[in-house]
Amino acid sequence: MSDTEVSGTCLCGSVKLRATVKERVYGACHCGICRKWGGGPLLAVECAEAPVIEGAEHIRAYDSSEWAERGFCGKCGTHLFYRLKAQDFYALPLGLLEEGDWRFGHQVFIDEKPAHYAFANRTHDLTGAEVFAQFGASDPDPA
Ligand SMILES: [Zn+2]
Ligand SMILES: [Zn+2]
Repeated sequence: MSDTEVSGTCLCGSVKLRATVKERVYGACHCGICRKWGGGPLLAVECAEAPVIEGAEHIRAYDSSEWAERGFCGKCGTHLFYRLKAQDFYALPLGLLEEGDWRFGHQVFIDEKPAHYAFANRTHDLTGAEVFAQFGASDPDPA
């Protein structure tokens, strides 16, 4: 198994995912939708291609914007992915995946981060506007 192949399951084990990540790097998203979805910033890993999913019949998805959906296990509620629908781009929550040699690389929507917390890690940080500029106006929030 190469070090860019990862796998994980939801809390109840009904859904299993296998994916290839671009690199062993994750980012944090501080946008208001991520913080409401998960109760805090989302730590997520970008996939190189759509993951292989076992137990997909248990997945529910919520359209969090016109361009993106967020998947979760319908039995246990574990968050499973953020997906840009047009590109079939997936980001997976870091906590789903087995432990490994991960690096905290970047933070996005840093301008939406509340002032009452901050990560001490040195990361590459982007505002929401910078994320939109990087990914094209119609593809925001890569995390
Ligand atoms: Zn589950
Ligand atoms: Zn977000």
